[in-house]
Amino acid sequence: MLYQSTRGAAAPLDFRSVTMAGLAPDGGLYLPQSWPEFTADQIAALAGCDYAETAARVLAPFVGDSLSMEELRALTRTAYGRFSHEAVVPMVQLDGRHWLMELFHGPTLAFKDIALQLLGLLFERFLRGTETNLTIVGATSGDTGSAAIDAVAGRQQVSIFMLHPQGRVSDVQRRQMTTVIADNVHNIAIDGSFDDAQAMVKRMFADQQVTSSITLSAVNSINWARLAAQVVYYFYTAVRLGAPHRPVAYSVPTGNFGDVFAGYVAQRMGLPIARLIVATNINDILHRALSTGDYSAGTVVPTATPSMDIQVSSNFERLLFDLGGRNGSAIAAQMAGFEASKAMQLTNAQRQGAANLFTSARIDQDMMAQSIRWAWDAAGELIDPHTAVGLAAARSDDLDPAIPMVTLATAHPAKFQDAVERSTGRRPALPARVGSLFEREERYTSLPGDYAAVRDFVLANSCR
Ligand SMILES: *Cc1c(COP(=O)(O)O)cnc(C)c1O
Repeated sequence: MLYQSTRGAAAPLDFRSVTMAGLAPDGGLYLPQSWPEFTADQIAALAGCDYAETAARVLAPFVGDSLSMEELRALTRTAYGRFSHEAVVPMVQLDGRHWLMELFHGPTLAFKDIALQLLGLLFERFLRGTETNLTIVGATSGDTGSAAIDAVAGRQQVSIFMLHPQGRVSDVQRRQMTTVIADNVHNIAIDGSFDDAQAMVKRMFADQQVTSSITLSAVNSINWARLAAQVVYYFYTAVRLGAPHRPVAYSVPTGNFGDVFAGYVAQRMGLPIARLIVATNINDILHRALSTGDYSAGTVVPTATPSMDIQVSSNFERLLFDLGGRNGSAIAAQMAGFEASKAMQLTNAQRQGAANLFTSARIDQDMMAQSIRWAWDAAGELIDPHTAVGLAAARSDDLDPAIPMVTLATAHPAKFQDAVERSTGRRPALPARVGSLFEREERYTSLPGDYAAVRDFVLANSCR
């Protein structure tokens, strides 16, 4: 299995190399040269497999020769052995039609653990026996930072520097990062906004003084291995609802289009997915793109669903590439146009291709709150605001009600206690496994919002 870049000007690479690289050198994103396909019999055979075994079988064609099947199995067992629920991704039925897929049973209570726990192990495995020390640098407004730190803490030949905007993440989110005490974990509180932190990270990847002395890598969802790991839970849940003999639909609360793109990949691989609903909050660039073809970025408006407060959705490029006939130079031109004017139109082929599988919805604050209340009143389930956006979109979709509709529950309600309490009068408790968060020691470095200060700190503290 080889991977190509969406912008057509980078050499094809294997799984190991795309995992280490993250972004392609031509600025594009990696995709498999062709989609592996599962027969109905292969899908049916997953019915007897637990989550770790399902993961190994679904990931095997993507991993190719980079790992033996035995090694891959050992990694998925370790990664998913750390989840608090034996099913890893359990499902809850809300009424005759609607289901939740609970993706928040990992160590940091959001779905990002599912991919990052595996990615941390993949980094360590691929670095073993090499001279390379990998330095991961990222900026976080919340969930990605804690999931990435938990995944690499204490691992060999990897260190992580995570920037967060000082005073602008919740106490739970900050403590989930800063109470991880390990020599290879460096939390940096920046005097500035998330956008300032993100801009510094981008600048570091383009800074010769940095890239000539340390090997940088990224853990955001541009990394193909993260998306591949997310394909697994579509297979795992669809099979439990009757696939391959019965179609299933999914509603996905969306920001960077990573999670929902993984659903698209599952469908391309042969899983009978009848529909994918792209659920956005009022930062609705994806809803506008899919409903009218207008992909134009506005300014980000903060909401109660911060992980979806995004105006430029990196992984959408992968969809446009695949739907538009995989023409790298055309995508490079389309994206250059977008980068210049912050706006572009989808082509007819892209719009028609998307319309075959996707619908979209824009869910505002009131609809989100109403959705939290409905889950509590109708089914006794407390759900977080991101999940509520997905569920609101699912409940307003016009798909045949005989088809089971699964909403991705992307965060534990206790990560967003205030919003849940406002809608239901109930305050969700933090699970026992993170309960001592407020008693543990915190460790982080405060730095001014100054690029040179951050760069010098990273250079002084990373392993060569
Ligand atoms: C990251 C995140 C999302 C958005 O996922 P994308 O893959 O970026 O579309 C939704 N909900 C929660 C809780 C998240 O952490």
